[in-house]
Amino acid sequence: MTSQVSPRSTRAYEHVLEHLRAKRVRITETRKAIIAYMVDSKEHPSVEKIYKDLLPLYPSMSLATVYNNLKVLVDEGFVEEIKITNDSTTYYDFMGHDHINIVCESCGKIVDFMDVELLDISKEAYEQTQFKITKLQLLAYGICPECQKKQENHR
Ligand SMILES: [Zn+2]
Ligand SMILES: [Zn+2]
Repeated sequence: MTSQVSPRSTRAYEHVLEHLRAKRVRITETRKAIIAYMVDSKEHPSVEKIYKDLLPLYPSMSLATVYNNLKVLVDEGFVEEIKITNDSTTYYDFMGHDHINIVCESCGKIVDFMDVELLDISKEAYEQTQFKITKLQLLAYGICPECQKKQENHR
């Protein structure tokens, strides 16, 4: 049986699989599906959302399976956990490219802010502290355009 979820970004998907194979991580059909889902996702889904979306294709999959698979991807640095102030849900983000996440303080939507020179921040951090940066987690908060409009209408 082949995976029923085919990712749009095949290169990123293959890269993750190669990396996991090299680390002798067992590649199951559900693992492939979850990787493909994360590579393709334009959103920042929760475990529950991923589970709900994949369940029709993989009826034997459990919530714990999804969670454990995400944990492997987080541990290997492919996926980042996003925790938002005043929200107990953990959201997951495939870090295929350097970006900063912006959270709308009003509706909770998370979007990517692209093409950020995270390298510059790492360099600056090293110059100031002599720390070699291995991981950089930035989360910005703001008000999304839709919520800005809503707020204006209420004035
Ligand atoms: Zn909003
Ligand atoms: Zn993101």
